Amino acid sequence: MTEAYRETLVKSTRKKYLCAGCGTTVQQGDSCYSVFCIYDGEVCSYRLHTFCRDHLDKCESCKETDELPDLNDCDDWQAERKLRQEVQP
Ligand SMILES: [Zn+2]
Ligand SMILES: [Zn+2]
Repeated sequence: MTEAYRETLVKSTRKKYLCAGCGTTVQQGDSCYSVFCIYDGEVCSYRLHTFCRDHLDKCESCKETDELPDLNDCDDWQAERKLRQEVQP
């Protein structure tokens, strides 16, 4: 059970991070969410791509699990990533 959850939008990261949702790099200078939470009494903090966080917010199958799901397992997220790659050069 999640006892506390706080997230902050970082407009430009000062260094590289790994996204806790999809496991790929958040590049330096990219925007991302910095998340702090207490889950079953354990403090955790991690970074999420803005698009990964937005996906978690709206995806019904990802919301089913209380813990952070592996986004690579989500078909909808995969489809979104594909779309993004086609838009970005
Ligand atoms: Zn991500
Ligand atoms: Zn999903």
